[in-house]
Amino acid sequence: MKDNYDFLKAVVDATMDSMVVIQTDGSFVFTNKSWHELGRVSQWFTDSKWQSANYLTACDVAAAKGDHFAAKAAKGIRKVSRAEQDVYYLEYPCDGLLASRWFVMRVTQFSLADTQYLVISHHDITARKLAEQEATDLAHLDDLTGISNRRRFEEFLSHQWRRSVRMKTPISLAMIDIDHFKQVNDTYGHGIGDKYLKFLSSIFSKSANRPDDICARYGGEEFTILLGSTDSSGAMQVIEKLLKNVRNLKIPNENASTKPTLTLSIGLATIYPDKTNEYEDLLLAADKLLYSAKTAGRDTLALTTCVTNTQMLDITIISA
Ligand code: GH3
Ligand code: MG
Ligand code: MG
Repeated sequence: MKDNYDFLKAVVDATMDSMVVIQTDGSFVFTNKSWHELGRVSQWFTDSKWQSANYLTACDVAAAKGDHFAAKAAKGIRKVSRAEQDVYYLEYPCDGLLASRWFVMRVTQFSLADTQYLVISHHDITARKLAEQEATDLAHLDDLTGISNRRRFEEFLSHQWRRSVRMKTPISLAMIDIDHFKQVNDTYGHGIGDKYLKFLSSIFSKSANRPDDICARYGGEEFTILLGSTDSSGAMQVIEKLLKNVRNLKIPNENASTKPTLTLSIGLATIYPDKTNEYEDLLLAADKLLYSAKTAGRDTLALTTCVTNTQMLDITIISA
């Protein structure tokens, strides 16, 4: 029997998955070598303490401190223990001493000599999670400029919108269109046009540097800057400065009909999200203001301090 135990222990110790067997009250029965290594890196239990520790209590204590993965783990273990389900899976992140990793926890049960045991294994899925994260990031970035794309922008706006409704804070949105950009391509070639777009996107991004902000390529030579928790006067300062900065760079666009240098037209709208309006109202208002900036002669900022769902309360035109 001892030989049998040693043999099976050696087999289970050889696996890279960390495994623990507990009883239904949470007390430890068996742990394999990988479990101790994982525990050491993750700073769970020291070797001397694990035998007296209780798996379920450890999960409950962590859950009470706000660890919602620990709360889910405890719930899942108890479900398997009560035979409400055969197997339970939980994917969870783990911040260790060296780096953050991801694991999938698997819980099953078996009975032997009238005693019920729960087998909990933890399998490292960090490589898969990183690949998924990279794919998500790529799907959210614009190929040419490397900044957020329209899809990411709309997700961000929708998230900020819900947050602003709760917090009763304003959102400001600048819709930026490069003036006479077709002339850049026609005069200097499409490759230089691309370089202009990359360069300008890096300048625009600097105006969106707080966690509630985002700068995105909305399409072609059109960009958006969303400033969360920012009212009209705050947004105006940021966006007017950007307009002037680009003007002062005097980037050549010698065949443009308005000026021989590159300029921007910007529509800037501010809204207080609530139950009477929708984020499409903000997009529509910024787009209409952009059109006003174009018709006012380009190199212009057109703004409104407050959008309602039916109208813009006031419009200011700031031209060069
Ligand atoms: P306006 O002042 O009215 O905005 O004039 P515009 O020439 O900027 O506007 P229009 O819509 O006539 O042309 C936009 C140009 O932007 C044409 C299109 O080829 C160019 N463009 C869009 N995307 C890219 C891109 O990825 N690279 C390059 N080089 N050009 C692009
Ligand atoms: Mg355009
Ligand atoms: Mg344009």
